[in-house]
Amino acid sequence: MRAEGIYPIVREGYRTAKDQQAILDERIQRYLDEGYLERGAVGAAKEWVAVPGTSEHQLGMAVDINADQSRSANDDVYAWLAENAYRYGFILRYPKGREQVTGTEYEPWHYRYVGMEAAKEIYQSQICLEEYMENH
Ligand SMILES: [Zn+2]
Repeated sequence: MRAEGIYPIVREGYRTAKDQQAILDERIQRYLDEGYLERGAVGAAKEWVAVPGTSEHQLGMAVDINADQSRSANDDVYAWLAENAYRYGFILRYPKGREQVTGTEYEPWHYRYVGMEAAKEIYQSQICLEEYMENH
């Protein structure tokens, strides 16, 4: 990617359950501050933040990759990753148009390691991990 003049950074890698809870709590608080009632705030937060024990970051197999903003744009990083990450065994974990299958909003920065073989098939078939798992 750097050879093509695009500069990525890993914004998130491994996260503990405690880290994950803190992120969820912070998001819930933000909704409460906006005037949501407790149940609504928790529900809204969970649409965006994984509950501890369910985040791929806690598994240690996922990374969030963004641009080094002083040198590149996020969209350039995301475009490069979408075309090339499979060569290194990584897949776009939550693709656009698969929200109903993955249960998660489109996240162009979130990549998961699945190994070279699975990554290549998932990329070439343009499917998501859930669909791949159904066939294997
Ligand atoms: Zn992520």
